[in-house]
Amino acid sequence: MFIEIKNARKKYGEGETLVNALDDVNISLDEGKVYVILGPSGSGKSTLLNMIGGLDSLDSGTITVSGRNISNSDKKKLTDYRREDVGFVFQFYNLIPDLTVQENIEVVSDISENPMDIEEVLEALDIAKYRTRFPKELSGGQQQRIAVARALAPDPDLLLADEPTTALDVTIQGQILALLGDLSRERGMGLLLITHDLGVVAEMADEVGVMYAGRIVERAPVRALFAEPRHPYTWGLIRSAPTLDTPPSAKLDAIPGTVPSPGDLPQGCPFRPRCPEAHGRCFKTPPTVESAGPDGVREVCCWLAEAR
Ligand code: ADP
Repeated sequence: MFIEIKNARKKYGEGETLVNALDDVNISLDEGKVYVILGPSGSGKSTLLNMIGGLDSLDSGTITVSGRNISNSDKKKLTDYRREDVGFVFQFYNLIPDLTVQENIEVVSDISENPMDIEEVLEALDIAKYRTRFPKELSGGQQQRIAVARALAPDPDLLLADEPTTALDVTIQGQILALLGDLSRERGMGLLLITHDLGVVAEMADEVGVMYAGRIVERAPVRALFAEPRHPYTWGLIRSAPTLDTPPSAKLDAIPGTVPSPGDLPQGCPFRPRCPEAHGRCFKTPPTVESAGPDGVREVCCWLAEAR
């Protein structure tokens, strides 16, 4: 298994400000796959990504990436891991303004043990033509390409991308995401992507994890998730997205209610106040994760999943 996360918990703040950003997260992911994390704002997606990238540490639980235990590595091992094994692409590209495109990438290559050849990086991203330009001379989409190049330069096993296109023009978003997907497949590099774009999810993902209130509430191969969502949040999410067949006058089904504050969750299932099917034990006890479906490849955190 490439990434294995067991009983991951992370809280921020205390007393009235306490937030369970990760509340017993368990997942395992295969190598070289595109894995997308969906979920409402504040559900713990970035926290999970940061933990996998070694940018922050869990309160309890373990994260293993390619056999390395990230959750209890010493400082030196963690620095090496962040430098060599994972690449990060964030919403904002943070290039160094006084350096050219090529120099921005070289800064990263120079401190890596086995970096990709710089020409190969420039070619993979189709940015050789910008090599002597400075970031301010480039558009947002072009700058994000350079940021992807920088993430790729150390030749990582895993790319972590946190809403990498949210700040970009909508016409460029698809290009950058397609590029990430292509790089992942061509290089056998895992890609863990946070996005709100369900079209992108359907097109690019191998697997999807849906988060709600600090938990993975559903995990499934992408086709199964869209064809037959099992968790009522996933179900609502997919029904609330427009498709090409949606007439302009159609009223989409929004999920009723609002996302609970992670610091003030209701008793029982965190989704219960918004769930049309909630009853009985949903009000009393948070559901546990169960494998559902005949294939057993999907997991759902819902008391009623079996009945669906
Ligand atoms: P998402 O990426 O799904 O929007 P986050 O992982 O950013 O969610 O946040 C999950 C919860 O943890 C939110 O309530 C957020 O306010 C809280 N949180 C995240 N990082 C911090 C932090 N460094 N300090 C305090 N609270 C945090």
